[in-house]
Order: sequence, then C-alpha cells, then structure tokens
Amino acid sequence: MESYLPISYLNDFIFCPRSIFLHQLFGQYDISLYHRSAQTFGRLKHDTIEKKNYSTAKRYLLNYDVYSIEFGLCGKIDIYDQEECKLVERKAHIKEIYDGYLFQIYAHYFCLKEMGNDIASLFFHSLKDNKRYSIPLPTEKEAFRLHELVEKIKSYRLEESFSQNQKKCFNCIYNPLCDVYEADNHSVEREIC
Ligand code: SF4
Repeated sequence: MESYLPISYLNDFIFCPRSIFLHQLFGQYDISLYHRSAQTFGRLKHDTIEKKNYSTAKRYLLNYDVYSIEFGLCGKIDIYDQEECKLVERKAHIKEIYDGYLFQIYAHYFCLKEMGNDIASLFFHSLKDNKRYSIPLPTEKEAFRLHELVEKIKSYRLEESFSQNQKKCFNCIYNPLCDVYEADNHSVEREIC
C-alpha cells in the first residue's frame, strides 16, 4: 500500500531537500535543541490550536486531520470555518509568501475538497504583526505543479547533487544538526523566517 507524504514536507523540501532527512532523523528529539525563538513563538501559537483553545464554536475545525488519496498527502489544517468555507493557515511571521507556503495551503485545500468540504477562500495569517493575506484558490495548473512536487520529493535521494544556499543555511532550524553547514562561514545578519 502506498504511504502518504506529510504536507509539511512540501515547504521543507522547497526550502532545502536535505531538511526532510534531518527532520526524519531528529524529529524524535527535544525540539528546543534546534528551534529558535521565532519558531518557538509560532509553535506555542499552534499549541493553542492543538489544545482546542482557539474557539469553542462548532463552526471551526481546528488542527483537523486531512488527507488526499489523489495526491498521496496527509496533514493537519489550522483553522477551517465551516460557515464561511474559509481556510486559514497561521505562520509565526510572514515577510513574504514563499512558494513553500503556497504549496502547503494548496495541499490543504485539495485534501479538504476531496474530503467533501467546500472552500470559498484561503488566507494566511501572520501572528507576530497580526496581518492577513488573501490567497487565490488554486486552479488545474497549481494541482499539476503539486503533483509534480510530490513526485519530486518521493524520488529524491540524499546523494543527488545539491547546491547550498548560504542564507537559507544560516536561517535553517536544522543547521546545528546538518553536516554541510559551517557556521563560521556565515557573515549575513541573522533573519529568522
Ligand atoms: S543547514 Fe543548509 S544544507 Fe543543511 S538542511 Fe539546512 S538549508 Fe539544508
């Protein structure tokens, strides 16, 4: 039986293909070993959702398990407003809408749809500055790109040629664990995404 790929891998893979392997290797250890303050802030906010403290209203599905047989993906959405058919994904601090964010929300959208839910609008919410960003609904083109990305992740091998992006490495939560990261070579100002 084919296994489902976690939706969180989409963003990780776009950021750096190697980060998926580090996530798998070290995921069982204490997260404080490698998470920095901004990520911890975001995680605490997500913990609020996980403990179902965001709202007691039945209209909201919070931290809800979703999957798609078509895409072979599974994950958890943040907030789905069943009355307004609105999907909201929260991030610690959004400075830019990265491709990885978009693929994640598209994956959540396609999973929810396949599970029989209507979705009228998509939003990202930046927690630090309390800003909300409206995202157009994905089309066939985005569905095709998502399929392509899933196949790319499934076929990726750690031995494949890899070109390091020094700025990404500096900001990467896995850099203390990564064998190709050399902290001394980084002089750019730290900027946590
Ligand atoms: S430190 Fe650099 S190479 Fe290593 S996982 Fe992070 S981004 Fe990738």
